[in-house]
Amino acid sequence: MRRVLFFSALLASLAMASPDVGAAPSKPVKTKAEAGNRFSGFVERLWPVARAKGVSRATFDLAFKGMTPDVEVIALTKKQSEFVKPIWDYLASATSAARIERGTRILAENESTIAAVEARYGVDRSVLLGVWGMETNFGSYTGGKDVLRSLATLASIGYRGTYFRDELINALRILEERHVARADFKGSWAGAMGQTQFMPSSFWRFAVDFDSDGHKDIWKSVPDALASTANYLKENGWRTGQPWGFEVSLPKGFDYRVHEASFAEWSTRGVSRADGQALPQEGQANLFYPAGADGPIFLVTSNFNVIKRYNASDAYALGVASLGDLLNGGARIRASWPTEDPLLALAQRIELQRALTRLGYDVGNPDGRIGSRTREAIRDFQVRAGMRPDGYPNRRVLEALKLN
Ligand code: CA
Repeated sequence: MRRVLFFSALLASLAMASPDVGAAPSKPVKTKAEAGNRFSGFVERLWPVARAKGVSRATFDLAFKGMTPDVEVIALTKKQSEFVKPIWDYLASATSAARIERGTRILAENESTIAAVEARYGVDRSVLLGVWGMETNFGSYTGGKDVLRSLATLASIGYRGTYFRDELINALRILEERHVARADFKGSWAGAMGQTQFMPSSFWRFAVDFDSDGHKDIWKSVPDALASTANYLKENGWRTGQPWGFEVSLPKGFDYRVHEASFAEWSTRGVSRADGQALPQEGQANLFYPAGADGPIFLVTSNFNVIKRYNASDAYALGVASLGDLLNGGARIRASWPTEDPLLALAQRIELQRALTRLGYDVGNPDGRIGSRTREAIRDFQVRAGMRPDGYPNRRVLEALKLN
């Protein structure tokens, strides 16, 4: 995964720092001085590891000169979000008038670069623009945190095991090769960097020097950032010429039990595109009900799942797809969202998962996160209960489950 999701699932604190890090591992940190000692101990221990990965002493010293742990970053690891934003609110801000206006201008300004990247990687401009717009509003907020400091802070407390220490080493190697100046080495609090928010490990796997100046500058070079993003999507399986999907209308009497088929089969079943265009001749697609069968319905291809390799959330992927479509002459989502159907609260989502578990479904640990296993179980239950099997967790399903 490109970047770290679901921080909320993890508890991290200074007191829980891994035992091989810092000066007083078994005791909670009480003073600023102690925290400082712990941090400098971590940095000292890091040096031989960095050296073994090809980082010079000069680069190492440049990276850590005067560095202290970032308490804001530590605080952010403890932030838990119980509230899930409705997808319609999420999409409204993802495709706001201001966002579209900026995207339209950015597209015009970078037309030739975008065309060149599209031609070289076979990845549609709409998805490139969608990712760029969703990640940083086309470069307008790329994150003001010192990436090395953020990563060192997270690594020093052992947050998520060795993940951030490995990312820190990757970041030091980026500095070693001077792809970015020390002062410009900025990103999000969790270390995502540049125009399209790559983690340092993704930088090494996918970043490209598209403008051939010797630096893979995903911070300031639009050609480098967009080519790197296209390369990321291509390497993750983007199929040239295949749409991500589109909104559809279902015919009366539609058999909701079917959710994966070829486009030819969907055509036979009377599924049509909401914009009136014909379905593609070839390929497979899944029905996708982001807010249940009462909301907008989509057919999505494997390219939709490639977008989710960037960020695993359905809402994010639909945001990228919709924003990209709108910047490429496409229409807004037509069907209305079921805004009167309130989202289940965390406790209700857990209740729903427990009820499914009681009925013999394996939905994993009932943590209130609705993943594919929960959706599958809901769908199966809906078939048995004579409901439309859209896999959507709302009150109707919860009430029906409680009767079982
Ligand atoms: Ca470059």
